[in-house]
Amino acid sequence: MEKEIAKQLIAKLVKELNEYSFSYYSLAKSLISDRQFEDSLAKLIELEKEFPEFIDPSSPTNRVGGYVSSKFEKYKHSQKMLSLGNVFNKEELLNFDKQIKKLSGLKTIEYIAEAKIDGLSIVLIYQKGKLIKALTRGDGVVGEEVTHNIKTIKDIPLTIDFKDDLEVRGEVFFFDKDFEALNQRQLKNNNKLFANSRNAAAGSIRQLDSKITATRKLSTFIYYYINPQNDNIFKQSDALETIKKLKFHINDKYYVGDIEGVWNFISQLENIRSEIGYPIDGIVIKVNDLNLYDKIGTTVKVPKWATAYKFRAEVTTTKLIDISVNVGRTGKVNYNAILEPVQLCGTTVSNATLHNAKYITDLDIRIGATVKIKKAGDIIPKVLGVVKDENFTKLAPWEGVKFCPVCNSELINNEAYVDYFCPNKKCASRILESIIHFVSRVAMDIAGLGESIVKKFHKLGILNDVSDIYKIKDQKEIILKIEGFGDKSIDKLITAIEKSKTNSLERLLFGLGIKNIGFKNATIIAKRFMTLEAIMNLKMTDLNNISSFGTVVKNSLINWISQIDNQLIVEKLIEAGLNDQYLGIKLMTNKLVDKTFSITGVLSQPRNKVKELIEVNGGVFSNSLTKNVQFLIDNNEDSNSAKHKLAKSRNIEIINEATFLKMLA
Ligand SMILES: [Zn+2]
Repeated sequence: MEKEIAKQLIAKLVKELNEYSFSYYSLAKSLISDRQFEDSLAKLIELEKEFPEFIDPSSPTNRVGGYVSSKFEKYKHSQKMLSLGNVFNKEELLNFDKQIKKLSGLKTIEYIAEAKIDGLSIVLIYQKGKLIKALTRGDGVVGEEVTHNIKTIKDIPLTIDFKDDLEVRGEVFFFDKDFEALNQRQLKNNNKLFANSRNAAAGSIRQLDSKITATRKLSTFIYYYINPQNDNIFKQSDALETIKKLKFHINDKYYVGDIEGVWNFISQLENIRSEIGYPIDGIVIKVNDLNLYDKIGTTVKVPKWATAYKFRAEVTTTKLIDISVNVGRTGKVNYNAILEPVQLCGTTVSNATLHNAKYITDLDIRIGATVKIKKAGDIIPKVLGVVKDENFTKLAPWEGVKFCPVCNSELINNEAYVDYFCPNKKCASRILESIIHFVSRVAMDIAGLGESIVKKFHKLGILNDVSDIYKIKDQKEIILKIEGFGDKSIDKLITAIEKSKTNSLERLLFGLGIKNIGFKNATIIAKRFMTLEAIMNLKMTDLNNISSFGTVVKNSLINWISQIDNQLIVEKLIEAGLNDQYLGIKLMTNKLVDKTFSITGVLSQPRNKVKELIEVNGGVFSNSLTKNVQFLIDNNEDSNSAKHKLAKSRNIEIINEATFLKMLA
């Protein structure tokens, strides 16, 4: 990165993060999500590492938390309240474990994993068994005294059975039902609603009038015992149980064991987090043996013997910068959201699907608005909806797109579909998309013809339809002039193109990009009709006995082969020397067409032989009893096997091998 850019970026991040921190810690108002804050902070730490000359003395990385409010008395904490490092996935958790083992010199480590409560951290100080002071976290070094307010919380003991001084730490929060009740009351009294449970807890504790705090049904989980070794406690789990015995409220849902067990615990809690009844945003993992803490040590900011697993933020908000419109190979218009980059599920998301025009207008999604986006697993992120805030009302509604952004043809809206189409077959976008599809892995699998190269070749006039791919070898002169191309790379590309000529028919058929003919349907057609010539001469009646094809698929295929441009392309492809035959398992008969079989038990011949017999006679073999299976081949009529019983319960016909062979006769 350029130095000047880094300098500006650092200054921008410092300013933003300080603003967020102040708002979060001192005003109990979060301007951005925790995840966004953590990500910005991580980015700043990284930049400061790379460019230490630009570290600002006011950088939030110099302090552990935020600002201290001036409204309450301030006290220094007896021990600095540390923040924790974060892990976001199993790999990072295992690295944490590796590091601990290295630092401690031990081969096995016992961990304790506790739910990370999304509330307000609190310090409780007892002298001779009496609660004398309660402090907020503040900036981790200095906290604010909120004793009067804390004393109103019902699950905090005012006296404990303990002779010496004791300091414990925990989290103040609302159970979900209490938070809902609080917001209901706010609504009834025409007061502002709390955005989330944590804000409500912070707002309740930071009340100057403790009478108000008393009306809020706050709860606590206490989890930290200061200097437990002084009281002969050497494990965090024992510290927790001691805290419990002293009649503090602890969270019983914790786990003690090895790192694999910790991961299981994390997965379980992440799955039920929305039903658990209180707000948690992660899991805290600590080494259970307190005697190891000194040996393992701490960094300037965080202890090395503990970390926090952050739950995935599955939904987040960001700004919709633009709606992009792309035309696919069939002419279908796709709408995509161009987003201000945001972290979601551990990846940076900068675009998301908007489905179709109707989706956009139904949800009243407007360019410039804040949108909610969702991502689960590997699924493409989608826009869930729009945040109708003050800014939203100032924005113009989305007008839709009436003309193809590439060829300017008027888009057509087929009434049967919610989709729009560019009707122009010569549309550059359609041509490009169809070539990209043709060379793709599942289709003709031509390595070296990536999207950007296809675009370049198209621009140079080398590629105007898929048949031109096989003329690339005659265009060496032109291609050599393209930057990045040499003799070697062209030869490699030509080899890949020549090799694709030997592909079996189903790949070619799929590659042609006929609407509704995916790879599976292409295979059914290729297997049934064997040659491209036969397929190009199909009539509707020939398709009638393919029961898995509906009218839409049949019409689509017949319509495609009836068009002269398509016929010309097919002619050119065959002329170029492409294989036009189905090379897979050849059908001997059509006797088992549309029949699906599964097998169980012992047969007189190897199972693979029977499987082959099914397939060469046009049938389908299925390992498991899916809903498509009509016959189960089993020589044992009274079998007790699970598969046999399942077949019976599903009314699947059970036949023996002899009956099966008769079907082939
Ligand atoms: Zn177009």
